[in-house]
Amino acid sequence: MLAIKGARLIDANGNVFKDAVVLIEGSRIKQVGTASQLPLPQGAEVIDMGSCTLMPGLIDCHMHIEAFNVLTTNNYRVATFEVTPQLQMLQSLLNAQLCMEMGLTTLRTLGWISYAGVLTPETIAVRDAIDHGFVPGPRLKVGGWATITGGHLDLILASNAPRRASDYGDGPWELRKKVRENCRMHVDVIKTCASGGGGTDKEAPDIRNMSPEELNAIVEEAHYFDKPVSCHCFTPAAQKMAVRAGVDTVEHAVFTDDEAIAMLKAENKPVIPTLAHRTDRAIEIRRRSGTSEFTLAKMKSLQPYTKETFQRLHQAGIKIAMGTDTQLDPEMGSQAIELEVYVDYGMTPMEAIQTATKNAAEALWMGKDLGTLEAGKLADIIAIDADPLADIKVLQERDNIKMVMKEGRVYVDKRPGHEKHVIHDQSYGWKKL
Ligand SMILES: [Zn+2]
Repeated sequence: MLAIKGARLIDANGNVFKDAVVLIEGSRIKQVGTASQLPLPQGAEVIDMGSCTLMPGLIDCHMHIEAFNVLTTNNYRVATFEVTPQLQMLQSLLNAQLCMEMGLTTLRTLGWISYAGVLTPETIAVRDAIDHGFVPGPRLKVGGWATITGGHLDLILASNAPRRASDYGDGPWELRKKVRENCRMHVDVIKTCASGGGGTDKEAPDIRNMSPEELNAIVEEAHYFDKPVSCHCFTPAAQKMAVRAGVDTVEHAVFTDDEAIAMLKAENKPVIPTLAHRTDRAIEIRRRSGTSEFTLAKMKSLQPYTKETFQRLHQAGIKIAMGTDTQLDPEMGSQAIELEVYVDYGMTPMEAIQTATKNAAEALWMGKDLGTLEAGKLADIIAIDADPLADIKVLQERDNIKMVMKEGRVYVDKRPGHEKHVIHDQSYGWKKL
């Protein structure tokens, strides 16, 4: 038996416990309560986190761990054409570990493409190496692509770059085959795209990416294999097509309208906003990597819409789950910036924390095991040396993340005399490529 103590505990069901204790048996939580309610069992190992706040490990529902973060490469051309999939795979592991140091215990990584094709097998290898205990890291949920020729996920690669024809499908049956091939590789989720996007050259966000018939086929096939579908939707037209098709999460939602909001609400579809990726800071980081002025201007022009849409969705009571789209920008591990934006746009800190815990776990079909601190759930617990309910920004400071536990095992422990890290490297201390 293991007991963790902290000055306060946010259970992510809306409760705050003072002078809190969590009892853990194996990988799961046995009980949560206050020190006066829960006497420490005899012989229990005690991890006393002193003045820290205990809360569930954070979950990023939408990021791209495979991306060569711009701060690790001198420019976009190097990242796109000179980095091999093998090297990219190792960078993915480093990226995952950087995120875990920051309290992220689950990452849903939704794919990346290089000159050598979509990097799904490489990401699956990283996921499995972590799951098998070869290397320490967060839980990865890996997305496999089912997308069309010339769609947004195709245009991430320069238009004249060589491509593998097998990475795309056109028409319902080719796309069903893409889903089946991904399931054969053991992906966790199917990623698709119903509209244009923001971070690509010469592409309007309102370009429709596939027909309703194609999207319906992808979702039906994925659900036959018991896999959720994550759908990139910039526009209300895309959101409506996605809800009608039965996708499981609606990503980005830059623009919306009343009808789309009503449909999302009626079907209780989680929306994953990805706003960290649209901040001025993210744009500046992108500028340094050589992103075109056209793309930077497009990213900037979306900001007022993302704010308005976020506020409308929140006010309508749509379930919002945290996703950051961390990839080329901002820095790996800086995901908590997303929560600061949510609070700036009107959420309470408690609501923001729930987007990255309870709501995120539910959106990813993991609500039974993750997202809250309560009896029976997996013990993914972090300790913060501050109160994120008083200031959500404290989650952005690496020094504040004092302990990170995944499934009952401690990966980061900064108590005096317990110096333990999932990765010792200070952020971005390595040599640039
Ligand atoms: Zn993305």
